[in-house]
Amino acid sequence: MKSPQLPSKTITTCKQCGKKFESYHSKNRKYCSLKCVNKAFSSYPQYKHLWRLRKDLWEKEEIDFLMSNYLKKPTEQICSYLNRTRDSVYWKASELGLRKYYKPKQETRLETLSVADLAYLAGIIDGEAMVSLHCSKNFAHPRVVITNTNRQLIEWLEYVLNRKAYKKPSSGKRRDCWAVAICDFKNVKALLRSILPYLRAKRKQAELVLEYCQYRELKLKKPGSKGFLDKYEQEIVRNIRVLNRRGI
Ligand SMILES: [Zn+2]
Repeated sequence: MKSPQLPSKTITTCKQCGKKFESYHSKNRKYCSLKCVNKAFSSYPQYKHLWRLRKDLWEKEEIDFLMSNYLKKPTEQICSYLNRTRDSVYWKASELGLRKYYKPKQETRLETLSVADLAYLAGIIDGEAMVSLHCSKNFAHPRVVITNTNRQLIEWLEYVLNRKAYKKPSSGKRRDCWAVAICDFKNVKALLRSILPYLRAKRKQAELVLEYCQYRELKLKKPGSKGFLDKYEQEIVRNIRVLNRRGI
């Protein structure tokens, strides 16, 4: 195994607490920890945001190393070279737009459907599906999940959407329940666009999900854009949650 090309570390003194810490030959790093960075910047409110502060804890050498090695080497190795946690490396990589396990999703077979079939599919989605944005930390995943107990219907959906159904956990005497899910931008968009004219009950949700997908794709194409949900996106997520709430 080739050794990593990280430069050697030198000992630097923290500007805030005066403690000595190891650092690369970089002018970026002046503080030993996030705590010290926060303290040092506490009198400058414009730098208080974590985004700004995190930058100080990644040195240029480390970023260069990550950029050139992240896609080639196992993440565990990179973590140990950089002496950082998995979360830290993942976070930085996603911030830099590096994606390791990108697998294109299978295309659906929607183009083969007749208008009647599309309208039928829209009816099923109206009645049996959940059209939502599933939120993780700083991202919302568009998602359409169709659930049913009828095996024949599920098999048709499996064929049309080109996805494998999975069994939902069921309790007691209930019949087995199956679900087919679509959760990638491209296919959710294609599906919702083609059934939108026939939707009734879920039309609002579908429109909101489409709006989110479009807005987000445009946003991420702009250079220097951040992955966080902005105000407008949070608003969409909130609206969909209200629409999908159970009961009154
Ligand atoms: Zn310090």
